[in-house]
Amino acid sequence: MQTRLQRFEFNQIRMGVDTPIVVYAPDEEHAVRACRAAYTRISALEQMMSDYRANSELNLLCQRAVGRWVRVSAELFYVLWRAQKLAHQTDGAFDITVGPLVRLWREARRTGKLPDEAALQEARARSGYRLLELSRAKRAVRLHAEGMQLDLGGIAKGYACDSALRVLRQHGIQHALIQMGGDIVAGEAPPGESGWKIALAAPTLDDSTNYLLLKNGALATSGSTEQYVEIEGVRYAHIIDPRTGLGLTRLILARVRARDGITADSLATAAAVLGMPDAKRLERLYKGVRVQVWEAGLRQTATKLTPNGRL
Ligand code: AMP
Ligand code: MG
Repeated sequence: MQTRLQRFEFNQIRMGVDTPIVVYAPDEEHAVRACRAAYTRISALEQMMSDYRANSELNLLCQRAVGRWVRVSAELFYVLWRAQKLAHQTDGAFDITVGPLVRLWREARRTGKLPDEAALQEARARSGYRLLELSRAKRAVRLHAEGMQLDLGGIAKGYACDSALRVLRQHGIQHALIQMGGDIVAGEAPPGESGWKIALAAPTLDDSTNYLLLKNGALATSGSTEQYVEIEGVRYAHIIDPRTGLGLTRLILARVRARDGITADSLATAAAVLGMPDAKRLERLYKGVRVQVWEAGLRQTATKLTPNGRL
């Protein structure tokens, strides 16, 4: 006889954002054990990929790999590889070497002032995806300028959701949903339903709320509507336009559906930089991916993704 599955929800902060996990499990003990393992897994990835932690594997790599090959963990290498692939495909619109420019943006948010031209020039000289070299054979990384800073903020959360889902599956849990900020990854639908019902606050000014049914896939939202600093009447979003070195100044929102979180997350960030019509090209590069972009008539702040409206 099949055990009846019950719904359990947890919420912890990881990588600086609320990270709710919803699972269906035979009992609470099972759910707690599995979700604890999933959160532990995300913590391990944070220690690997955070640019906020001085001693993360990523930051140690930035210090050590200038002019020489440094071998990295298989997971960090995979994420770097996917990021570089997308950088090439988008001609650098997606670019994880924007770290020095992100630091300038964070400073601007703190001080309310834009960086001066010299600081911008200097940071730009330390950025550019061509300055980051990967060797698959060595599973190693080499950097070609002093003071480079890699930033996986546009891709790591999606990957972390994928990893958490894998851990849940190893614990025998199939029906699960994980959210980290604008990134959602779903396993099987809730028992008896055809998908996880995700409430999407409408990005546009008409007030409708849309619903989307998600299962065995990922959904990511990126854009300039939520995190930005306003200076002299101009909004600079936390996503850097590598062509200017500054935060995106146009209002844009990108939503990507994909088979997994790493793809959805990274493509959503890329789509926000590319804008239309270029963002649509991503659908041809990645099988089964759906890209939507809104640029006109957006709310100034928008889109909380709310799985099942209950988290
Ligand atoms: P997301 O919220 O997934 O769109 O990611 C935004 C984060 O990605 C920023 O906070 C930065 O850490 C990082 N980032 C900023 N600009 C870029 C860019 N052009 N390409 C890749 N990552 C970026
Ligand atoms: Mg992203």
